[in-house]
Amino acid sequence: MPPPIDLRSDTVTRPTAAMRKAMADAIVGDDVLGDDPTVIELQNRFAQLTGKEAACFVPSGTMANETAIRAQTEPGDEIICEINGHIVDHETGGPAALAGCMVRTLPSQHGILTEAQIRASVRPRDDDHAAWSKLLVLENTHNAGGGTVWPLDQFARVARTAHELGMRVHLDGARLWNACIASGHKASDYCRHVDSVSACFSKGLGAPVGSAVAGDRETIRRVFRFRKMFGGAMRQAGILAAAAIHALDHHLERLAEDHANAKRIAESLATIPGYRIDPNRVQTNLVYFDIDDRLSPTRDFAAKMKSRGVWILDVGPTTMRAVTHLDVTR
Ligand SMILES: *Cc1c(COP(=O)(O)O)cnc(C)c1O
Repeated sequence: MPPPIDLRSDTVTRPTAAMRKAMADAIVGDDVLGDDPTVIELQNRFAQLTGKEAACFVPSGTMANETAIRAQTEPGDEIICEINGHIVDHETGGPAALAGCMVRTLPSQHGILTEAQIRASVRPRDDDHAAWSKLLVLENTHNAGGGTVWPLDQFARVARTAHELGMRVHLDGARLWNACIASGHKASDYCRHVDSVSACFSKGLGAPVGSAVAGDRETIRRVFRFRKMFGGAMRQAGILAAAAIHALDHHLERLAEDHANAKRIAESLATIPGYRIDPNRVQTNLVYFDIDDRLSPTRDFAAKMKSRGVWILDVGPTTMRAVTHLDVTR
């Protein structure tokens, strides 16, 4: 049997030979002591790409979000987030466990919130009975929303509204790179509207490990502190940072291929009876589609697909997800 076509996630990519060489050749130090030159280079690069003062390299996107949340909130504060946000559904209750925050979730069209929703949900600061609505968390691309790209003007308006109401704004940009390639905007175009941003090198960019958080110097100083507290400070981490630098140099522009392949899958599925998908909604590399009852349950459907050499995830009672990435060709 040929090797499987693994469409479960864009995290399944294996480092290329060139990336492994960059890792092997990396100059390293002790990053906990602050002198790993390759980590410093990556952090500077990420800060520059996002237009922020400083950045911190962390092991995972989850730790990037959770350190950013912890750095910008106090226990008892409220976080506002879209109802199927990654921090709500996939971070094991981290905002509650690690930052002591409540999360107020808002419904949306494909992950995109409105100014009116923000205005209607922020609690008044002068009410001594209310939690403080301290942090708005936005996601771009929005994963559960279908890999949706935020229109830049709406993103700016929503962030500005939160700021006017006294909140800070964090961007979960695990797939910010995909949003940029799909929209033509620079990372800094989005990031200038937020206080902190996280992004993954371990997804579409193809690095084996790693994410980063960027923001103002004071916030990132706190992120470093909580990275240590959460157990994420690493020693000769330059080996990992080298993979991320290689990914930024070589794997950014090619995300357009993943998007074209995802569109191609969506358009093909739309022609097959039994599958429900609107190809116009596939903007990046995530392809969510629904299957008819007669093809379900989705778990069995995924198992049958796997036996034919195509790995995809069952993500709901009728919903499947296929993701394109560096390791799948057209
Ligand atoms: C994948 C993902 C993360 C973080 O994932 P890790 O597996 O912890 O690296 C965060 N936010 C979104 C939207 C994601 O898709």
